[in-house]
Amino acid sequence: VRAHFAPCFGEDGQVEGGVGIVEDVTEQRSAEAERNRLFREAQEAIRVRDDFLTIASHELKTPLTPLSLRLASLERRMERKEPVDPTLLRHARQHLVRLAALINDLLDASRIEAGRLALHFEPMRLDAIVERALTTMDAERGQHRIDYSHPEEGVRIRGDPYRLEQVIANLLENALKYSPADSTVRVTLDVRGDFALLSVSDEGIGIPRDQQEQLFERYFRARNVSITSYGGLGLGLYISRDIVERHGGRIWVESEVGRGATFYVALPLLSAANPTPPEPRPAT
Ligand code: ADP
Repeated sequence: VRAHFAPCFGEDGQVEGGVGIVEDVTEQRSAEAERNRLFREAQEAIRVRDDFLTIASHELKTPLTPLSLRLASLERRMERKEPVDPTLLRHARQHLVRLAALINDLLDASRIEAGRLALHFEPMRLDAIVERALTTMDAERGQHRIDYSHPEEGVRIRGDPYRLEQVIANLLENALKYSPADSTVRVTLDVRGDFALLSVSDEGIGIPRDQQEQLFERYFRARNVSITSYGGLGLGLYISRDIVERHGGRIWVESEVGRGATFYVALPLLSAANPTPPEPRPAT
C-alpha cells in the first residue's frame, strides 16, 4: 500500500485536521515489475543480436582473405603464362563452399523464424542418407577416425532426405570441429521400438552441463568455445532441432566437459503410427 497525508490548517494557521489516502498499489507494482522484466528481456535480445552481428561479420569475412589471395596468385601465374596449380583452385573453391554454407545457415534460420522452411516428406532410407553424409564428410575428416555401425536391414522412415542429410552433416562437422585431430568419431544407427536412433559421439572438448539445454537455441555457443579457436555462428543445432522436431522426432545431447559429447537423434520409423518421441535419458 502507499499512504498520503495532507494536513488542513485553520485561519489561525493551526492544524485543524487532515486528509489521508491509503492506496492499494499491488496492481501498479506488478505492472511496473512486468514493464521492467520486458525491458530487461529486450535489452538482452539486443545484446545477443549485437554479439551475433560481430561474430557473423567475422565468420563471413574469414574465408574472403584466403580466397582473394589465391585468386590473385592464380591471376599472376596466368599473366606470366605459368602452369596453374590445381590445389590453388581447390582451396579457393573450399573457401567459397564455406562461405555458401554460412549464408545458407543464415537463410535457413530466418526461414525458420518466419515459419517458411519447407520440408518435402517421402518414404526414405535413413541408413542411405547417413552413408551419403559420411562420404561427403570424408574429405574433411583429416586424421580423425570415423567408426560407423548400423543394422543389417535398411532403416525406413518418412522424411526429407535433403534436410536430414543437413542435420547429420552438421552433427558430423561439429564432432570433427570440437575434437582433437587424431581422435575417433563414432556414428551408430539403431532401431529402438518405433524409432530410428542415430548417435554421433566424439572425444572432444565437451559441453558444460548447465549449458546443454541452451545449445539448440538460435545463436547459442557454449562458453568453452571462442570465435578465435572454433569458428561458427551457433545456428547449426538450432536448424537441426527444427528439422528433427518437424519429423516428429527429438534431438538431445549427453556430454561432460573434456570428455566428449554424444548427440542423439530419434526419428519415427515408417511403420510406426504417430509414436511419441522417447524422452531424452536424464543426464548421468
Ligand atoms: P556452431 O558450431 O556454428 O557454433 P552449432 O549450433 O552447430 O553452432 O553448435 C552450437 C554450440 O554447441 C557450439 O558453439 C558449441 O558450443 C556446442 N557444440 C556443438 N557440437 C559440439 C560438440 N560436438 N562438442 C562440443 N561442443 C559442441
